[in-house]
Amino acid sequence: MSTIRFFALQESQNRKPVEVKEISGSRSELFGANVFNDTSCKKFMTKEAYAALKDAVNHGKKIDRKIADQVASAMKAWAMTKGATHYTHWFQPLTGATAEKHDAFFEPVGDGTAMDKFDGGQLVQQEPDASSFPNGGIRNTFEARGYTAWDPTSPAFVIATTLCIPTVFVSYTGEALDNKTPLLRALQAIDHAATDVAQYFDKNVSKVISTLGWEQEYFLIDSALAASRPDILLTGRVLLGHHAAKGQQLEDHYFGSIPERSLAFMRELEIESIQLGIPVKTRHNEVAPNQFELAPIYEEANLAVDHNSLIMDLMSKIASRHNLKLLLHEKPFDGINGSGKHNNWSLATDTGVNLLSPGKTPKSNLMFLTYFINTIKAVHRYDDLLRASIASASNDFRLGANEAPPAIVSVFIGQQLTAVLDELERVTNGNLSPEEKTDLKLNVVGKIPEILLDNTDRNRTSPFAFTGNKFEFRAVGSSANCAKAMTIVNTIVAQQLKDFKKDVDNLIENKGLKKDDAIFNVLREYIKESKRIRFEGDGYSEEWVKEAKKRGLSNLKNTPEALRAQITPLAKEVMIQNGIMNDTEIMARYEIEMEEYVKKVQIEGRVLGDIVMNHVIPTAINYQNRLIQNVQGLKEIFGKDFEQYASEQLDIIKDISKRIHEIKSNVDQMIDERKKANKIDHADKRADAYCNKVKPFFEVIRYHCDKLELTVDDELWPLTKYRELLFTR
Ligand code: ADP
Ligand code: MG
Repeated sequence: MSTIRFFALQESQNRKPVEVKEISGSRSELFGANVFNDTSCKKFMTKEAYAALKDAVNHGKKIDRKIADQVASAMKAWAMTKGATHYTHWFQPLTGATAEKHDAFFEPVGDGTAMDKFDGGQLVQQEPDASSFPNGGIRNTFEARGYTAWDPTSPAFVIATTLCIPTVFVSYTGEALDNKTPLLRALQAIDHAATDVAQYFDKNVSKVISTLGWEQEYFLIDSALAASRPDILLTGRVLLGHHAAKGQQLEDHYFGSIPERSLAFMRELEIESIQLGIPVKTRHNEVAPNQFELAPIYEEANLAVDHNSLIMDLMSKIASRHNLKLLLHEKPFDGINGSGKHNNWSLATDTGVNLLSPGKTPKSNLMFLTYFINTIKAVHRYDDLLRASIASASNDFRLGANEAPPAIVSVFIGQQLTAVLDELERVTNGNLSPEEKTDLKLNVVGKIPEILLDNTDRNRTSPFAFTGNKFEFRAVGSSANCAKAMTIVNTIVAQQLKDFKKDVDNLIENKGLKKDDAIFNVLREYIKESKRIRFEGDGYSEEWVKEAKKRGLSNLKNTPEALRAQITPLAKEVMIQNGIMNDTEIMARYEIEMEEYVKKVQIEGRVLGDIVMNHVIPTAINYQNRLIQNVQGLKEIFGKDFEQYASEQLDIIKDISKRIHEIKSNVDQMIDERKKANKIDHADKRADAYCNKVKPFFEVIRYHCDKLELTVDDELWPLTKYRELLFTR
């Protein structure tokens, strides 16, 4: 057996669970211990600074320098009690990862002594040497400065010995260079739009926040085994490998008892997360072998996004401590389920009401229906943009693969709510008669909570499903930063709510309708207009693809196609009008994402070529030589009759030659296509070429390699196999 595979297997067999150091105190006592949360703020800050900080968080008020100094000094004092020696502006550049550059508090004073220093200036703004972060041409080299600026709405935290301060990352001219900036702008837009609409129902509402509860799926693979595979190391997925005889067909992994080594990882992850204020709640095995899921309790969207970014980073670090490799890739193993990240999304008022949860009275239910129907309408208007928000090279392998939603965006609401919308569709045009209104309120709107109680139908195949008190966006990729999806969802719903307000006010002011009547009238029209986006059937079926086409819904099958939806006039308008991004920012992002797509496919192509030429073909030849020796031996023994004893061997010898030929010629063609693609100037055309000309070779090459894996002596095969990767616990 090849030495690498042999040692990796041996190593993995001998592993024991790594001991987890429990910290004294229950989970609830530990919660938030490493966060500069409200309690620590109160304890370490002056009353004045605390009040100013609250005002900044709740009402977006500016913090002046004097207050910033006070906050910084309190933060430093608190952080030092946690053992912090350094601080960092923590941000989420467009690389998809998080970024940090640590500076020590320590500063020499000049007389041979030193002091710990951290003032308002250092808290509020930093200028990281960040010229290598993706910027899509926003920062010219002569003005290559990027700034990180403190986001007071997400609390600072200490990891190990570093105080981490969540920040946005913008260019010198104020353009967003990160994932957080547009999200914060979208959250502001939804706050204003949703609060305005809430005034129809409850004058006490003065703020609406967006809530997000993500569910993170992932794989854990023994680290020695992972390291033995160049493809896993460099691309996060296996580019070849024959499916194991046993995969997930017995479904014995889902919710099964968690393997000990993985459990130790989860325990340590939970202890760290809890202290960082991430309210992790649920852990279980997922469908595929060695696949798991982690979910926290939902939080305000900006905080939830930060927590998801933070936890992805933590997971990877803690996994290595447990000799495990974390795979966040959307489809690490062809043939078994991939990983997603459901984004459960809703809106909540500062009066404590979930706007997507039916209430107890007809009035509160009309409020629920308003947000509910407007969300459906928003998805109907901007389905392409929603599709674009989850597009990535790696998510392309999962979408539409009969395990995750298709690339077609639709909304599932369940039978009962469909019936309610059908009733509302029949509402009279203009003012409603008192009888109609009473009937509606008592029998349709008033019945909703009861309906939802028994509403257990859940459609797992829908990309955007209503699940009782929230919508669940299920097409988000496991490795994605949720910010992008959440920016789009909140922006399109904000736009829709603004238009709703205009439409209702228009009927009241110009057509003399009463408020409720106007609302019923507008909702009726929205229900009609957005009907085609609603789909209750099997989203994985072929029929749906045909039906969706008939309905005129778009089916953007790959990333380059999907990303184009971000630069249509409709898409640009909604982003610009709501102040989420300007034209420069939109185009920069478009270019960065196309470029990223190209790089991902390019790297996969190169890695595949290398593995094939350096591992697969030499091994096949090696084995073929053994067979040839065997045939020569048989010939010596049996003379001219040898063929009847060697016919199988001869077949295999021929088959190997045929496969080698196929592999080599396809690799050559792939390299040619790559060269051609690299010469294309425009990032989007280059992405198309990589998608349609280069990528198709992956499957053909893999097919023949996997056949060879089945043929070649297991002793010789150099690449760790599916069964070893997936069933080593
Ligand atoms: P599953 O999809 O696995 O069946 P659930 O539907 O129970 O699981 O999903 C629960 C998720 O929804 C949790 O992560 C939870 O935090 C989140 N969630 C519940 N209520 C809300 C809400 N109002 N806003 C956002 N997320 C929510
Ligand atoms: Mg879910």
